Amino acid sequence: MDVREFDSPTKNTWCPGCGNFSILTAAKHVMAELVKSGDVKPEQIVISSGIGCHGKISDYIKVNSFYCLHGRVVPSLMGIKVANQRLKVIGFAGDGDAYDEGISHLIHAARRNLDITIIVHNNQVFALTTSQVTPTTPIGFKTKSAPKGSFEAPLNPLHLMLACGATFVARGFTGDMQHLRALILQAARHRGFAFIDVLQHCPSFNPTLQKFKPKVYDINKEGHNVQDFAAAWERAKEWNDRIPIGLFYCVEKEIYEKQLMGGRVLADEKPLSSVRDVLKKFM
Ligand code: SF4
Repeated sequence: MDVREFDSPTKNTWCPGCGNFSILTAAKHVMAELVKSGDVKPEQIVISSGIGCHGKISDYIKVNSFYCLHGRVVPSLMGIKVANQRLKVIGFAGDGDAYDEGISHLIHAARRNLDITIIVHNNQVFALTTSQVTPTTPIGFKTKSAPKGSFEAPLNPLHLMLACGATFVARGFTGDMQHLRALILQAARHRGFAFIDVLQHCPSFNPTLQKFKPKVYDINKEGHNVQDFAAAWERAKEWNDRIPIGLFYCVEKEIYEKQLMGGRVLADEKPLSSVRDVLKKFM
């Protein structure tokens, strides 16, 4: 399958040079690869996105998609996956979307080990609303909501996900598209909750590309053991001089929907024809 099959006719309105383009391109290549290798059919791929610049990705990829409320990417995917376990579901969220409004959903999806992939476009700022503090904004960074500089300690998303029991924890970088593409493919093939925090440069409000590029290194080229929780935790502490990217942690665990539904696929069942029928089932 050609990757261009996933091109959408919608006009792209992201700013020139935005890191979102790398995530979009990488994701479309991964989808083509999943189809080519027989993992899924194109119609079995479902994506969801939240509110923010990243959210437009639902318009830019020609697959089944669900453009949801702010912070609700995870619950929308949870409903879709529980109803039909045969689908490949991939969520896109911003750092404000995932780590602020939607943080409780992220926590519970990780601890439950839902079989979904979540890609967070982390540009450390609310960009669509022209620059306000998010939970990953660095200390001292000036935004419209913190004109003297943020004084709040930023959240470490990798530590959060490790602590919550996520079975696949990774970090990507929009300055290295090939690496990002390989990482998303691994995540999409992981059976369980796969989380990727992507350092996404935002030329308009947080142009981090040149700042991060010399510091970023691939931990998987340095003999990191992805099954070693303590090693993953230590690597995730690194930030200032060297910024690790790659797969930090990956283990197998039973998935949520298998335990909840067994082999039952709700999407195959005869739909109830009326609200009365639905209510009768609970009477
Ligand atoms: Fe990308 Fe930033 Fe422009 Fe939004 S504001 S489209 S994140 S460069």
